[in-house]
Amino acid sequence: MISQVIKILPDSVANQIAAGEVVQRPSSVVKELLENSIDAFAKNIKIVIKDAGKTLIQVIDDGIGMSEVDARLAFERHATSKISDANDLFAISTFGFRGEALASIASVAQVELITKRENDEIGTFVEIHGSKLIKQTPTVCSNGTSVTVKNLFYNIPARRRFLKSNDLELRYIVDEFIKVSLSHTEISFNLVNNQTEIYNLTTSTLKQRIIHVFGKSISSELLDINTETSIINIHGFIGKPENAKKKNKQQYFFVNNRFIKHNLLYRVILNAYENLLLPETTPSFFIYFTCNPKFIDVNIHPTKTEIKFEDERAVAQILESAIKQTLGKTSILPNIEFNLESSIQLPQMQKQKPITQPKISINPDYNPFENKTNSAWKNFFETENILNKHFEEVKTESNTLNLEYKDTHNIVQLNNRFLVLPVKSGLMIIDQHRAHTRIIYEMLIKRLEDEFSYSEKLIFPEIINVDVRIFTHLDELLPYFNRLGFCIKKINNEQISVEEIPSFFTNYSLGSILEKFFDSYFDIEKMPHKFEILDRFMLPLAQSMAIKNGQVLNNEEQQQLFDELFSTMNPQYTPDEKVIFHVIAINEIEKHF
Ligand code: ADP
Ligand code: MG
Repeated sequence: MISQVIKILPDSVANQIAAGEVVQRPSSVVKELLENSIDAFAKNIKIVIKDAGKTLIQVIDDGIGMSEVDARLAFERHATSKISDANDLFAISTFGFRGEALASIASVAQVELITKRENDEIGTFVEIHGSKLIKQTPTVCSNGTSVTVKNLFYNIPARRRFLKSNDLELRYIVDEFIKVSLSHTEISFNLVNNQTEIYNLTTSTLKQRIIHVFGKSISSELLDINTETSIINIHGFIGKPENAKKKNKQQYFFVNNRFIKHNLLYRVILNAYENLLLPETTPSFFIYFTCNPKFIDVNIHPTKTEIKFEDERAVAQILESAIKQTLGKTSILPNIEFNLESSIQLPQMQKQKPITQPKISINPDYNPFENKTNSAWKNFFETENILNKHFEEVKTESNTLNLEYKDTHNIVQLNNRFLVLPVKSGLMIIDQHRAHTRIIYEMLIKRLEDEFSYSEKLIFPEIINVDVRIFTHLDELLPYFNRLGFCIKKINNEQISVEEIPSFFTNYSLGSILEKFFDSYFDIEKMPHKFEILDRFMLPLAQSMAIKNGQVLNNEEQQQLFDELFSTMNPQYTPDEKVIFHVIAINEIEKHF
């Protein structure tokens, strides 16, 4: 083994590469360190995180390690053992090639490196705080490398403040972790956050790895895909059409074992499924391309997640026919091609509880005039329905609109989404899903405040599969569910059991609501607003229980939705500040004539 393998990159290349910042958040550190361990041929990699990486990120590997000289050189900007001129970029098959990850990380954190090569007697310890060398000494340690990154952005308070909640930062870390773990099944990975093990992935086949990451239930949803051509080989799995999901996150492309994004190929996939998918759903996929690195243009993208194939059209065609072949092979195609309806009858779907249409009757004791907290709206109704004399002015952002309510029976539903009705100042258009979200949200808040919860014991507790991400959030979520009158228990780290549900929930299909709840729970976490935990729980639950856009409502339901909306505290905005209704002013309408 050569004792010094690190070379310094010429500046021209360095500048080409250095676009974009390497370290944005804890997850970027995790990604870089993982890539380094993989490049160092590690067989086992352990990641230890504290406070979602804000306090501590440690990556321990059993890879080739570094010499004493390299241990120090590794922190020099543009120090890399992996490339010496720009041409190498195009044939690159290792992860790192910018030679600036460690330097960047060490400039914004307190970093400790412990490393030893197999044939060295003794290892090296290097400590660097904000690019400053604090200490370098020989040390006794095992083969491989451990990099500890403490107090990220400790010297840039503004960037530190910019970090998101621990939940969200941890989720970013888990996302990176999943991408890496799915591309290296020959390596075992261990991820620990605040002393809780989140993943322990032993070496396995690809399918087993996917199951370990996403839970057992995914195993019956996957179909093999496999094609070998002179240009490119494709292998992996695609999801059955009936398991397609809204906002599906289980969508992964890898090229030569590196995660990539590729919009064109994504569209090719959707195309290949054609009309097999229910509206708005997209299939899961884990697609691995293998090809000669020469056919790829890595394009020196800062995060290297976007690439171009030399012959994109050929790759697209090969992929499309591979998918169609897989879908055809499993004889899903003939069953379903006639029309969309038949896909609903596929065996997989029949296993689910029939979806009961949620009724809008949320509050049977509803009386719009009883609501003391909402006097402006109350007056509005009183004036119209009872006194029928004067009108309440309601302020909107830019102008004052008179929302005098003309005739409750004139509501019509437009496009199965909007309730449209004439009001004095024009035409009111209500988004039905948002309106119902507001109604349910306030109902839920009220329930939480209630001393008693009215629950029903389920004769057969319902077992629901949860994935690992959900599992890590259960401890904070279950108390809220319980306070609402659910009795939910953890069975193991893949399943929960629902034993009691509150009475207001009896019309809902539990499994599908919870699935939607968890989806929007994670979505809401990404929002810029700093929601309190209460809202982070309530809002997604309300959203998943609310009637959907696309649902047909009869007159009575339209009327009820309208009435209930205007008995809420804030009929104009959803809790996440989306506009619920809009009034098109008469003069606006007149302009068109
Ligand atoms: P790059 O990975 O782009 O080369 P880095 O700053 O990430 O740049 O790492 C600099 C160098 O430090 C690497 O080229 C490699 O030689 C060495 N190195 C970093 N991490 C490890 C590790 N876990 N095991 C062995 N060598 C490492
Ligand atoms: Mg690197």
